[in-house]
Amino acid sequence: MTKSAIVSRTIPVSEEEEPPSSTMTNSEAKEEEPPSTGFASRRNRLFSHVSASDWNDWKWHFRNRITSVKELSRFIPLSDKEQSQLKLVTAKYPLAITPYYLSLINPDDPDDPIRKQAIPAIEEISMGSMGMEDPLEEKRDSVVPGLVHRYPDRVLMVLTDICPMLCRHCTRKREWHNGGWVRNDEEIEAMLDYIRRTPQVRDVIISGGDPLTLSTERLERVIARVRAIQHVEIIRIGTRFPVVLPQRIDAELCNMLSKYGPIWLNTHYNHYREITPESTRACDRLLRAGVPVNNQTVLLRGINDSVETQLKLSHALLKAKVRPYYLFQCDEVQGTEHLRTPVETGISIIEGMRGHTSGLAIPSFVIDLPSGGGKVPLQPDYILSHTKERLILRNYQGRIITFRNPGADSGNKLEMVPQVEEAIVNEDRALVRS
Ligand code: SF4
Repeated sequence: MTKSAIVSRTIPVSEEEEPPSSTMTNSEAKEEEPPSTGFASRRNRLFSHVSASDWNDWKWHFRNRITSVKELSRFIPLSDKEQSQLKLVTAKYPLAITPYYLSLINPDDPDDPIRKQAIPAIEEISMGSMGMEDPLEEKRDSVVPGLVHRYPDRVLMVLTDICPMLCRHCTRKREWHNGGWVRNDEEIEAMLDYIRRTPQVRDVIISGGDPLTLSTERLERVIARVRAIQHVEIIRIGTRFPVVLPQRIDAELCNMLSKYGPIWLNTHYNHYREITPESTRACDRLLRAGVPVNNQTVLLRGINDSVETQLKLSHALLKAKVRPYYLFQCDEVQGTEHLRTPVETGISIIEGMRGHTSGLAIPSFVIDLPSGGGKVPLQPDYILSHTKERLILRNYQGRIITFRNPGADSGNKLEMVPQVEEAIVNEDRALVRS
């Protein structure tokens, strides 16, 4: 698929898909003011001039995203050398940070895990020859522009390439060159037509970019038509809004989503510091609207590549009633090599979590294979030896335990403990006599 086939409408950020006007009154906005936390006080220092109603309005954040190095330097101390380097990087990979997400960054810590996800690094271009533009070959699997059909029973609808923030580790970094585009009605109809003609599709994933950059009204027009297709059982929405701009999860959006269930929402927290009062409230609103929230983390060097960080993240997610679903090996994407970890890191993180916390807190560690190979789960090897009759296993403490493999040899009769056998025979005799 050519670039021109994908791009239906190129729009500058300022003419973005018109976000709805805030549905909150000023008094409601006051109620929404999050409790004072360490993050909030930093936010107040940086954005003390912003009214509570503006701060709680996602449209305001979207319009006021930080998109240039000059603007960024007003909030984060940057040396002249850093500014020149960032200008070089942003010429290839642009910059966009919501004021909300910027407020979570510790400006005095160059290794801050929130900062590393949002602020460009020179390695994006100095190591830029490593990796591929489109390692997952999504373009190859597109059956009509914007609709990826890779697995038998599910499809991915890519409605836009616009995101509230440009995450430095993004798999779709290649799309950033295209400016902002949104699928037009004709293209969406072509996607829907394919789904209608393909009865094995029972699961439709609506993604982007970020589909929640569309106005609620426009999103509803798409979701309602997907829901009207009889063989579509579930709809999933992939969005990072609960993390980078949780104000988007407002009453209007949740009311709309509640009409078209079952809808699941997959979001993308990478660090426990992203789970703020505002963000927790966004997840709670979704749950109350009947939309379960799952999390997909990307494993990132220097950001979340330790057992301790992953445990803290999972525990914070569970407290917010969000299920830790996947831990992704960072894809082999150009401009992200400095953030990628060896595969062994992910496996040893899972090993360090298993047994030390509930299974509910442990995501599946997966690699999304290049060339459209799909997801492959990886986990520590707990089987030390395996025959038809027995497995020798180790547990999370390193204890070695033998486990009998039931009925593995079809020639074997299952052995019964003699006392149990005798009790059953006696029981049968008693039944016959009565
Ligand atoms: S929200 Fe997702 S698609 Fe958008 S820039 Fe971040 S990682 Fe990429």
